[in-house]
Order: sequence, then C-alpha cells, then structure tokens
Amino acid sequence: MASETEKTHALLQSCSTESLISSLGLGIFCLVADRLLQFSIIQQNDWLRALSDNSVHCMIGMWSWAIVIGIKKKTDIGEIVLAGFLASVIDIDHFFLAGSLSLKAAITLPRRPFLHCSTVIPAVVLTLKFTMHLFKLKDSWCFLPWMLFISWTSHHVRDGIRHGLWICPFGETSPLPFWLYVIITSSLPHICSFVMYFTGTSQVMSSKHGNYIHV
Ligand SMILES: [Zn+2]
Repeated sequence: MASETEKTHALLQSCSTESLISSLGLGIFCLVADRLLQFSIIQQNDWLRALSDNSVHCMIGMWSWAIVIGIKKKTDIGEIVLAGFLASVIDIDHFFLAGSLSLKAAITLPRRPFLHCSTVIPAVVLTLKFTMHLFKLKDSWCFLPWMLFISWTSHHVRDGIRHGLWICPFGETSPLPFWLYVIITSSLPHICSFVMYFTGTSQVMSSKHGNYIHV
C-alpha cells in the first residue's frame, strides 16, 4: 500500500496538464471522426462503413486507456492495443446473431445482439473482478476489469448516438445527444482513474507502469 506522501503525489499527478490535453484531444477526435464517417463515399459501401466505424471504436478504446495509464514504456503499447481490441471486438456479436459471416445479414438484424446490452458490462466486469480475486490474479491483471469497462462503455455510448442505450431487461433509451457522447467519452478515462485510485488499483498499476496513474 502506498504511503500518504505517495498518495498525495499520485493525486497531484492525476490532474496533469498532459492528461487533460489528451482527453480534450479525444473529444475532438470523436467530433471529427464521426463527421468524416458521414461522407457518402464511406456511407455507400457497407464494408467500408463497417470497418471505419469499427476502427473508430478501436481508436477511442486505445486513446482512453492511454489516458488512464499514460504512455511511459514500450510495454504499455501492448495494453493500449488490447483496449482497442476489446472496444472493437464486441461487434462480432452481430455475426453470431446473424448466424452468418454475411455483412448484409449482420447489419440488418431484427434486434440488437447480446453484447450491445449495457447491463452486460457491470455483470461481466464484476464477475471478472470476483474470479480474479478468487484465483489471486488481481496483481498482474488487476487492470483488466477496468479496461473492459472503459472499452465496452465507450463502444456502447458511441452506438448510443444512433440507437440509444439498451438496458436489458428494461428496454432502450432514446438516442443520446452527440454532445453527451463526446462529454462522456472524454471524461470516462478520468472517472475510471479516480475510481481505480480510490479502490487501490492505481497503486498496483503505478508500480507496474513505473509511474503514477494519470486521471
Ligand atoms: Zn456496436
């Protein structure tokens, strides 16, 4: 456990200009990327639209995690790539529900696929946390539930601007305003970091990354 001095230092570091500028950059990226995706050249081609949409999910996942950990070492890149993978991989459930590899079938589903139910996020995160605690994996992979939370939440919120949030079994919200999506996405890494700091995960991670977590 970190000493009080270390904790104070971590808290000061957590409000660094570097991290605030990074999240401002993330907000601008959200604004620009979704505008670029509206170009007719992208919209007219199903594969191009699906791939570019999924790439934006991936970029947001990577950017968000980079804000959480701060990039100090080459090994941090692996974690950032994993966060991007988690943010984009959930769209695979479209193909599972369609029961086919046909993109046409995957994007014309009669209902939303199961990984797009937002109730799944706390259920999976808490199950993962509990399982890791049970198998004493919490030190080496302590970041994983948080990474999953941030990657999947950013994906759901971004999909929410078109479809709303699906809070099963209660139903769906109306589509989220674009400004709300940008605010939630750019502040999510900070919220996540604060919670990690107060639950002690940041202390374990700071020794792993050789720096204090950036909020
Ligand atoms: Zn999606």
